[in-house]
Amino acid sequence: MANENMLPDQDVTYLNVMQALVEDKAGKYIQMAGVCPCPRCRIDVVALTLSKMPSKYVVVQKADAVPMLSVYENRYGTALVSSLLAACEQVKAHPRHASGGDEKPRGVAFVR
Ligand SMILES: [Zn+2]
Repeated sequence: MANENMLPDQDVTYLNVMQALVEDKAGKYIQMAGVCPCPRCRIDVVALTLSKMPSKYVVVQKADAVPMLSVYENRYGTALVSSLLAACEQVKAHPRHASGGDEKPRGVAFVR
């Protein structure tokens, strides 16, 4: 007799809700703040933001992972946005992406 309230173990997973929220919002704020949209800068923004926020791991049913984010968004939204904006400003001021094409490191002489 199957208990309908119990799900098979493979239907549950853990989720860092803070990471999911930051990844969800990063694109919007990167664009708003005028940060370089390259993958490296996006990753830097997400990593910097997550470093400033408490990590929140929860065990969820895989199907419920996204809807339950709104609970945490209500709880952490304000702090998260302020951390996200601070991270955007930091990455914008000091981008760490590989310089493309004509931007060679300055002050380096090439001796042939
Ligand atoms: Zn970039």
